[in-house]
Amino acid sequence: MSRFWSNIVSELTPYIPGEQPKLPDLVKLNTNENPYGPSPQVLAALREATEDSLRLYPDPTASELKQTLADYQGLNSAQVFVGNGSDEVLALAFMALLKHDAPLLFPDISYSFYPVYCKLYGIDYLTVALDDAMRIRPQDYQEPCGAIIFPNPNAPTGVDLPLAGVETLLRDHPDAVVVVDEAYVDFGGQSAVTLVERYPNLLVVQTFSKSRSLAGLRVGCAFGHPDLIEALERVKNSFNSYPLDRLALAGAVASLHDEAYFQQTRQAVIASREQLTADLAALGFEVLPSVANFVFARHPQHDAAQLAAGLRARSVIVRHFNAPRINQYLRISIGNVGECAALMTALRALV
Ligand code: PMP
Repeated sequence: MSRFWSNIVSELTPYIPGEQPKLPDLVKLNTNENPYGPSPQVLAALREATEDSLRLYPDPTASELKQTLADYQGLNSAQVFVGNGSDEVLALAFMALLKHDAPLLFPDISYSFYPVYCKLYGIDYLTVALDDAMRIRPQDYQEPCGAIIFPNPNAPTGVDLPLAGVETLLRDHPDAVVVVDEAYVDFGGQSAVTLVERYPNLLVVQTFSKSRSLAGLRVGCAFGHPDLIEALERVKNSFNSYPLDRLALAGAVASLHDEAYFQQTRQAVIASREQLTADLAALGFEVLPSVANFVFARHPQHDAAQLAAGLRARSVIVRHFNAPRINQYLRISIGNVGECAALMTALRALV
């Protein structure tokens, strides 16, 4: 701590993402990246943008990307916001949309960045317990609140809340913004984007990091009523008027144009998830029903921290959270067929 720090900085407990080791022969299943890499069309667009225009500032309105996203979702561009990864979109949403006179509600087990943003912006929050099957129960969100946020499917569980449940929350809290963080929705969840026209209090946040394999490019987006989008734009323009760099804009647009590659890699991840779920169950693991690109699993006879350490000793990295109720679980990202096989070989030596 430094005497030059403000009280806010002194009290921050920043989020620490999963590690990004450089070792080439590791099987890296710890941060939910996509094993298949971006579309070849994206790589071509990145090369072209690099050669042609890095000397120039990017489009401050990101108009081509916004319009492409709007067309993709059947919305208009005033209902679309873009930012550097969904983490940035979420950070701006926390500042723009969360009322400071009423608490924010989110599940007790969910994305650990939410309490970090609350601390940063001085927002009160209350957590709502998941049920015994680790599901979000909309009926339990009864406290008066300024906003509600949750990942759907939830992280790190992978369990989804069906759209009817999302609508219950939207209807029960017409004066609160309901932020649905859909980082993993493309692997089998139901997107709430279809509800945007009907609910002015809905903000849906998505990312290009997972299903579009562009975690390194940092592209996120949000869909909602133009008033909500305008709030995000105001906050963003008070920080940095360029939402995305030229490579990110070019790569994201190209990704949306290659629907065939998107569908093919998404289905490959889903197929591997189903196979991995069956293989883990055969080894005695209890696996939560996941619609994400990871599974959350525990073994009744083996300590999760020890399993994670044993895997690491065999060059496989998964995520273990030392947190109440989930410290006996491993979160395992879905790799390609070879990576899943290497994981299973390592696990068979351990259980
Ligand atoms: N939301 C959830 C639930 C996540 O797990 C992640 C990834 N850590 C993000 C948002 C942020 O992803 P990105 O910033 O790469 O878009």
